[in-house]
Amino acid sequence: MKPAPFRLTREVLPGLYQVRTRGSRAYLIVDDEITLIDTGNPGSGIRVLKALQEIGRSPEDIKHIVITHYHIDHVGGLPELQKHVNARTGVHLAEAPHVESDEPLPNPFIHPLLARICEPYLLRQDPGSARVDVHLNDGDELPALGGMRIVHAPGHTAGSISIHFPNRGLLLVGDAMQFKFGRLMLPSRLFTQDMAAAAASVRKLATLDFDTLCFSHFRPILTGADAQVRQFAATLPVGPS
Ligand SMILES: [Zn+2]
Repeated sequence: MKPAPFRLTREVLPGLYQVRTRGSRAYLIVDDEITLIDTGNPGSGIRVLKALQEIGRSPEDIKHIVITHYHIDHVGGLPELQKHVNARTGVHLAEAPHVESDEPLPNPFIHPLLARICEPYLLRQDPGSARVDVHLNDGDELPALGGMRIVHAPGHTAGSISIHFPNRGLLLVGDAMQFKFGRLMLPSRLFTQDMAAAAASVRKLATLDFDTLCFSHFRPILTGADAQVRQFAATLPVGPS
């Protein structure tokens, strides 16, 4: 028996494909037009282009790129993709300056020693500046899949966003939450700027209605996800952590 061909894409719901980029998962929101959510580490551009081929679409179909936050495993493939794809790129207004700047991306490590140890590697990996066409804000909407709404969910970074598709019962949280060993958790302390704000964002996300919850680094929760998020949010202390 021939082994199954390696696939970069997985259809999570009709019109929603998860893409294995380097270091994280990106998403293709597929309608007449395509919206790409996140771009993986540097070197992921080619994977996104191959993923489009896998689903029978072409680079010209991507009309929007939305970045959930400026960490390199989400924004690293953006400059290379912008050479092949004529899409408008949206980044939350709090972090657009990091993406547009010629300066290297800010070091994501919270612990000063870890930050220092990883600095040379990060500088070598730095993707360089990318174009930002739209500065996103809480409540902004795009038409994909019957309406996608930007939900500002700060904490992991100041401009982290989640993306809600109320008409499809879907929430993409980016790195605003982790899902390990079947449990929801706050984002990693190693890379999260403000844990109290991250907890407040989970409480905010818990007010939304959705069935399916997708993460950037973990397998999705396909059904009944909002009840799980509400349960988790109820366990979080209010106030500084
Ligand atoms: Zn992150």
